[in-house]
Amino acid sequence: VGNRGRDTAPELALRRAVHALGMRYRVGIRPVAGLRRTADLVFARPKVVVFSDGCFWHGCPDHFKAPKSNVDYWQPKIERNRLRDQQTDEVLAAAGWLVIRVWQHESPLEAAARVAETVRRRVPSP
Ligand SMILES: [Zn+2]
Repeated sequence: VGNRGRDTAPELALRRAVHALGMRYRVGIRPVAGLRRTADLVFARPKVVVFSDGCFWHGCPDHFKAPKSNVDYWQPKIERNRLRDQQTDEVLAAAGWLVIRVWQHESPLEAAARVAETVRRRVPSP
């Protein structure tokens, strides 16, 4: 989504919280060739990818409300974004990636704990 800036505050808060749990990841890369959206956090070996989704742009069921002016513009636009997110998840899943989506409204600490737990579960024990 071009209108979505990189390194938004919720993304940074999530990264910091995940980092504080001792997890190391890559930032802002495209895990699958041809996929246009870059992931916010990428754990290459366990193949886990994290997207931090803004409540407005990604159509959060709890918080998205189309602006009163121009509903006819925003409603379909956000619908397309949601569809694109679903397609992104499908492409990644087909390539063996586990996708975690974190809403902007979620507590970064709770989301980070979920991410860390998922990544650790995916890494085969020695
Ligand atoms: Zn929300």
